[in-house]
Amino acid sequence: MARAKTLTMFQILLVLLTVSAISIALTLAIILPQADGRNNPVRALLPSQLQFTLHHPQKDLDALALQLGEMHARIMRLDALSTRLAKMAGIKERDLDAIQAPGAGGPQVNPQDISEAQLQAGIADLAQQIELKSDRLSMLEAMLLQQTMQKNMLPDNSPVNVGYNSSSFGWRVDPFSGRSAFHEGLDFTAATGTPIHAAAGGRVTFAEQTPDYGKIIKINHGSGLETRYAHASELLVKAGDVVRKGQLIARVGNTGRSTGPHLHFEVRRDGAPMDPRKFLQN
Ligand SMILES: [Zn+2]
Repeated sequence: MARAKTLTMFQILLVLLTVSAISIALTLAIILPQADGRNNPVRALLPSQLQFTLHHPQKDLDALALQLGEMHARIMRLDALSTRLAKMAGIKERDLDAIQAPGAGGPQVNPQDISEAQLQAGIADLAQQIELKSDRLSMLEAMLLQQTMQKNMLPDNSPVNVGYNSSSFGWRVDPFSGRSAFHEGLDFTAATGTPIHAAAGGRVTFAEQTPDYGKIIKINHGSGLETRYAHASELLVKAGDVVRKGQLIARVGNTGRSTGPHLHFEVRRDGAPMDPRKFLQN
């Protein structure tokens, strides 16, 4: 009896051990393969820089490098287009080449074995190239307009009798938000009351006060061309008026989103901002 009882106890222990062994094996077999994916709760607890090494960063970088190469190809097509347009407009190649990026070139991007730093350098280089190309194209657009439009309708008359001495057209740090923002016009710092003249002849389409631009005048010059005169203290024309080039239309002020008395002057074509200097320099 005693021997049989001991045996039974041993058998029970054996069965228990077997059952637990099987359940452990099953757990390992079922859970582990699933744990190989990205939704691994254990991996989620790891710091991100460690997780990065666990994935395949090279694959992600290669994909980005490919996109970078594609953007390069697009820029080259854009360049070819601007050259053809320059020929049509009769612009000398050297005039276009005058717009040169400082130290253009940048690293050659090789889809294989690209590092994160190389990729960043490539993107920065590309951004600079895009800026250069758009500058060249806006110059072409301005020159083509000069050839096709009536002289009176070209916004080449300085709107105030002072130079543009503060923020110029392009990217800058916004004085209000502190962030980088695109400045869509040219700023002329001048005392409140300084006369503002129409840069070209046209019809006034807007002469009102808005929250951002303050008191603003918009003039339509035809061919999709428009000039805007913002932050004025006084508006001297109204919507519907026909104005001639050089006509007094408003006075400099500090209305709207402005940090001091100045004229914010814009040239737009089909709504897109153009660099006013492309007209005023001539
Ligand atoms: Zn401005």
